[in-house]
Amino acid sequence: MATTGTRTFRNFIGGEWADAASGETFESLSPATGEALGTFPKSGPEDIERAVAAAKEAWDDWRLTPAPERANLLYRFAQLLGEQKGELIDLMTREMGKVKAEAGGDVQEAIDMSLYMAGEGRRMFGQTTPSELRDKFMMSVRMPIGVVGAITPWNFPIAIPAWKLAPALVCGNTIVFKPAEDTPLLAERFVELLTEAGCPRGVVNIVHGFGETAGDALVRHPDVAVITFTGSRETGVAVTHAAADRLKHVHLELGGKNGIIVMEDADLDLAVEGIVWSAFGTSGQRCTAASRVIVDERVYDELQKRLVARAEAMRIGPGWEDDTDLGPVINRAAIDKIHAYTKIGTDEGARLLTGGEIATGGELEKGFFYRPTVFAEVDPQMRIAQEEIFGPTTALIRVRDFDEAIRVANGIRYGLSSSIFTQDVNRAFRAMRDLQAGITYVNAGTTGAEVHLPFGGTKDTGNGHREAGQAALDVFTEWKSIYVDYSGRLQRAQIDNVRPSG
Ligand code: NAD
Repeated sequence: MATTGTRTFRNFIGGEWADAASGETFESLSPATGEALGTFPKSGPEDIERAVAAAKEAWDDWRLTPAPERANLLYRFAQLLGEQKGELIDLMTREMGKVKAEAGGDVQEAIDMSLYMAGEGRRMFGQTTPSELRDKFMMSVRMPIGVVGAITPWNFPIAIPAWKLAPALVCGNTIVFKPAEDTPLLAERFVELLTEAGCPRGVVNIVHGFGETAGDALVRHPDVAVITFTGSRETGVAVTHAAADRLKHVHLELGGKNGIIVMEDADLDLAVEGIVWSAFGTSGQRCTAASRVIVDERVYDELQKRLVARAEAMRIGPGWEDDTDLGPVINRAAIDKIHAYTKIGTDEGARLLTGGEIATGGELEKGFFYRPTVFAEVDPQMRIAQEEIFGPTTALIRVRDFDEAIRVANGIRYGLSSSIFTQDVNRAFRAMRDLQAGITYVNAGTTGAEVHLPFGGTKDTGNGHREAGQAALDVFTEWKSIYVDYSGRLQRAQIDNVRPSG
């Protein structure tokens, strides 16, 4: 079992622990303290090659293992996650930085997803339909595809691997998992628990390392049939290019610039709760974070006042402390980027109401902490209203009415999550219809997806696939249509069944 400290960890390939072929390593650092949590192999193409070969070999048997038996692995895994939840929460507050309640939610999401996908082991329905010919039977079945390359970000370090690995496994695929370089220890624990749950050797392999080397080699490998990727839009484009020559299946879950609409009839206290949770939860580092708040001018001033008061009352600190509201952001590059956007916002003419600075003093000195930041009088075309900042920064945009609110909400390149606070059922239904996003919330913030509905976005947030729910099965299976003719003679579709007309 892994422990924190300066322990050295390895890749897990074909059931064996292995260093990177190059012998190179990198460290995982706590964003709250800078403390090293472990040393990991900095892998390259050679390591990917070995992992893919192991996954390919394991596929021969795993694809033939009955789906309900594959599901049993996920039931056991869910149980182990539950037993280790406390340890994983503690580790997540240290390695990724989110606060305890959110870390608990992250682990619970993985438990829920594993249980949901285990249920698919006894469903995974296909179709039967009548043939146009006598004595002929037709059906469609889902077939596993082969080796899946899973590339994940650091912001949901247990949940996102589960969103990918649980459906891929129950559908009968084998996996090479390249986790984010900022959260390798949690990924390591994830794979250790899967192994403890009884995952056969080679079915799940983990290769640590950086995107441009290990990740790219995985995407380009000819024996990897499916790439499931969650990360930034820019990397998603690079992955698509790299996979194109081999016509691989590519599943992308990318960035967001999610907006909450607050109409004049909204319950303002509830709206402020929703905004605080969506804009500052996980320090704004959720793909579904509310980085825009689109407010009817009749309640704009009041909402602004209440939001600023709430932002200023948030307690900043390490995620593991009980009274922390806002943990650190992931690393130096993230805090530099967030702070650069504060300058961009002020240079563009937006009014900085609160925050806009690196939080320092006492225990904060050693980590990457940023004050919750609210900009007002933001024009919808400003960069802070268009680009993903991925930090605790939100932009208030003033609108005259519902139609303008919808136009502004849709006026971005992304289409992940959206929300409206209103008491008017007609407006709520119009928003559900007209907001261009994969997810719409009514009278709730932009986050809070459950595992049994599809998750993903329109426009530049992805490429049309969805994670979670039944939709995830489409990523990890291919349809086969099967025709069985039991007439004992050649029957020709579209020819032998044609009756003379008239
Ligand atoms: P990132 O794109 O920098 O990295 C994601 C992963 O891709 C990492 O494992 C990284 O090593 C790897 N990678 C980087 N370059 C690569 C390359 N050339 N080839 C192959 N792999 C490569 O993203 P991040 O900073 O880890 O995560 C934040 C981003 O993820 C944000 O944009 C956020 O919105 C997005 N995200 C989206 C969802 C969603 O479901 N839509 C969920 C969480 C996060």
